[in-house]
Amino acid sequence: MLELCLNKTEIHVTCPGCGCLCDDVELTFAEGRISKFAPQCALGERWFRNHSEVTQPVAELEGIATDYDTAVRQSLELLEQADYPLIYGLSRSSSPGQRAAVALADRIGAVIDTTASMCHGPSIMALQEVGEVTCTLGEVRNRADLVIFWGCHPAASHPRHADRYSVFAKGRFTPDGRDSRIVVMIGEANKVAAWKLSPSGGEADLVIPVPLDGDFEMIAQLRALLRGTHVDGVTEPVLQLIELMKNCHYGIVFFGLGLAGSRMWEGSQPTNSGHIHVAALLQLVAELNAVTRFTARRMRMQGDVSGADNVLLWQTGYPFAVDIARGYPRYNPGEFSANELLERCESDLCVIVGAETIPHFSRAARDHLKSIPTIVLDYPNVPLEFTPTVSFTTAVYGLHAAGTAYRMDNVPLPLRALQPSPYPTDEVVLTDLLAGFRGD
Ligand code: SF4
Repeated sequence: MLELCLNKTEIHVTCPGCGCLCDDVELTFAEGRISKFAPQCALGERWFRNHSEVTQPVAELEGIATDYDTAVRQSLELLEQADYPLIYGLSRSSSPGQRAAVALADRIGAVIDTTASMCHGPSIMALQEVGEVTCTLGEVRNRADLVIFWGCHPAASHPRHADRYSVFAKGRFTPDGRDSRIVVMIGEANKVAAWKLSPSGGEADLVIPVPLDGDFEMIAQLRALLRGTHVDGVTEPVLQLIELMKNCHYGIVFFGLGLAGSRMWEGSQPTNSGHIHVAALLQLVAELNAVTRFTARRMRMQGDVSGADNVLLWQTGYPFAVDIARGYPRYNPGEFSANELLERCESDLCVIVGAETIPHFSRAARDHLKSIPTIVLDYPNVPLEFTPTVSFTTAVYGLHAAGTAYRMDNVPLPLRALQPSPYPTDEVVLTDLLAGFRGD
């Protein structure tokens, strides 16, 4: 029996390594360790291998190993003393852990924010404003004959996206895969020429460089051309693009952090106008539906950031940056988002559920984080640039524990427990904190 557990091959494994949530992975274990990951994906393989080592203690106080009950008691003391706590993260969790985090935030009167505020928060604000014509990735695979990547580099961030869904995949109405599609890549002038469609290569049919902050202007030109309005100064590639858009059977634009002006977009300064760029693109996509079928999709980064949006939405009515300190939820990105709250030194305790985006916080936010008590719940082997007051190593959903994660197109997929571990899930830790909190 033990032999069976230690040496085995699991098929149809769901990989939470990125928002693609590929559910066709084959994982081979030898002597309880991962020996093979297939099909090839360096990002996914690294994700499973990094988290599968279970040498870290279950709990630590100021970096020194302790037992679970002591860590829970210490955390409860910190929670009882806090005036304006913040709960942040959740995108590598799973629906049960996210639900437990909202319940704790409600009980202790905290702000709860997800990693969306560091990545596609501006896109969420845009779609709240203008709506979104959207689809599943299965629809793209089967129908899309025009695929546009705008402000994202799929080969680096979502290595199997092109193979499984958008470019090379053969579908019902795209029987020749790559030959059934026209692919366009739009991005920053100094980057886009080097972008590939997948790690094994592949060039777009049309590459359009955009000057810094030039996305809005290009989208405005496309909207005017779609209406038949004459516009001066339009470049030849933009004229080609509008013809491709009008004449396709089914178009999809996947847009990324480059368009949303996110803090996590490597090498760029975050902008305050990302939601305006995305709103303009979503309006263009809606207007294209007067002449053909056209949809838009965000390229979500972390494995279950879409799940975090969904759980917060169904529990509080808002997707991120929610303040429950007054006993009812209030939503205001910028005011209640983690980076800005910490920058203004307003929170006096931070519970971090998955710390992978903390290095992208501003210097001022990270400095304040180091000066206040922190309770960190995270997977094994995640490096931190500070020592938390209390830390819990938690079971990895999809490897050590079962759960549910949402793919980037909001399709929920089951995660399975494949390997034993000594760690509790974040749901267990957060539920224990909720049960022990007296609040007097
Ligand atoms: S593309 Fe993303 S979800 Fe798919 S195997 Fe690679 S890391 Fe995992």
